[in-house]
Amino acid sequence: MGENIEKLKEHLRRISKFESAVSLLHWDLETYMPKNASNKRAEIIGEIAGYAFKEFTSEKTHELLQKAESEAQTIEDKALIRVTKKEYEKSKKIPPELFIEFQIETSKAQKAWENAKNEDNYKLFEPHLEKIVTLSREIADHLGYEENRYDALLDNYEPGIKTKELLNIIPKLRNSLINLLEKIENADKPKKDILNGKFEISKQKILSEYILKKLNYDFKSGRLDLSEHPFTITISHNDVRITTKYDENDIKKGLFGTIHECGHALYELGIPENLRGLPIGDGASMGIHESQSRFWENIIGRSLSFWKYFYPKLTEIFPHFSNIPLKEFWRGINTVEKSLIRVEADEVTYNLHIMLRFEIEESLINDKIKVSDLPDVWNKKMEEYIGIKPNSYKDGVLQDIHWAHGTFGYFPSYMLGNLYAAQIFNTIQKDLPNIESKIENGEFIDILNWLREKIHSKGKIYEPQDLIYQVTGERLNPNYFVDYLNSKYAKVYNL
Ligand SMILES: [Zn+2]
Repeated sequence: MGENIEKLKEHLRRISKFESAVSLLHWDLETYMPKNASNKRAEIIGEIAGYAFKEFTSEKTHELLQKAESEAQTIEDKALIRVTKKEYEKSKKIPPELFIEFQIETSKAQKAWENAKNEDNYKLFEPHLEKIVTLSREIADHLGYEENRYDALLDNYEPGIKTKELLNIIPKLRNSLINLLEKIENADKPKKDILNGKFEISKQKILSEYILKKLNYDFKSGRLDLSEHPFTITISHNDVRITTKYDENDIKKGLFGTIHECGHALYELGIPENLRGLPIGDGASMGIHESQSRFWENIIGRSLSFWKYFYPKLTEIFPHFSNIPLKEFWRGINTVEKSLIRVEADEVTYNLHIMLRFEIEESLINDKIKVSDLPDVWNKKMEEYIGIKPNSYKDGVLQDIHWAHGTFGYFPSYMLGNLYAAQIFNTIQKDLPNIESKIENGEFIDILNWLREKIHSKGKIYEPQDLIYQVTGERLNPNYFVDYLNSKYAKVYNL
């Protein structure tokens, strides 16, 4: 028996309890906290999170890791040592002064970004972004990399994948998407106003809860609330909460936003109790996490089979739809449009938005473009990839908060999530040949159990590429995504 491994686990689980408290405070902050409490709340969160961080980076963690290393025999324990060591070493590589400066600059930048966006003035944000890019380069240099400085940042969100790999797959993927987009542009379009209407929020809530239950989201281990930006948060084992936001004029937002978060939550709820509280008791990566949300939101939630089952319920709640044939509704929720805003993008154009951001980030971090040239670079790429150009900064370079947060390296997760989801779906179809009829009958448990067994139950034991290899028999292969889109949209647009 590994006595030291047990001590290490105990130490890590103890730290995670403070993190649980922080999560709960965060959830409250985003949902029900009285407005005037915000300053104090930030202080309280800072204190507890700071304590947890100090404990994790303490000499004690180092000692326990060293003693436990030779005891690790099982795959789980070996992964525990590898992941904990990596996180510990990472936290030690960045000088505390740099870490603090980064925290201060990014919190200033968020306010500046909001301001700049409201005023539609890039110049108000530019000096802040300049600073954050400089600090991010420094951080990357401290973290270290072999080939590309961006690798150091990418590894924070998608361990194991390299910039080179992304740069390799993008040109072909981009061409396939642009080709499909052109075909769709020339095709007969679904009626645009078909989904227009007023949708009472209280009824949207009933619909969301109904769908969540059918998708096997367990309300005894979670809840659904409202927040400005929808999110999923894990408080502890058997406590994974989601939030959504309804729009009276657009039923799609609340509906698909809820299904998206449900995908994240089902993943978190499927992580076994014995891994919880440990660094391996988490999703494999941001990309794998996003694969689960996009899988339920798009591949399942926007499929015709799904709506064959749910359409009667939808028309019962919103009689508005009783005059609209199911097929037209389904075409309506899958409309492809050249749009300026990433978060509103459809399945075909979404990844083009991400590629643009990834290429800009990679160039910034490697000093290949200047922060002052960003709006021009952005607009040029928008025209090239999507065929339209923003007339304002807020619909262009200022639309996302990510760079103000300093989360360089995060954007590719969104693209990877879409690619992984299609690759996983391809394998599920082989393993569950009757998947379509199951969906049409509102039976989702086989799909969920498959995901649980192959992905959720593994937590963070494997790096994403190894996990995808185990699940699908190959590493990341974007062809599955392209095939999925081509076959789906051939039907949506009668191509
Ligand atoms: Zn997501």
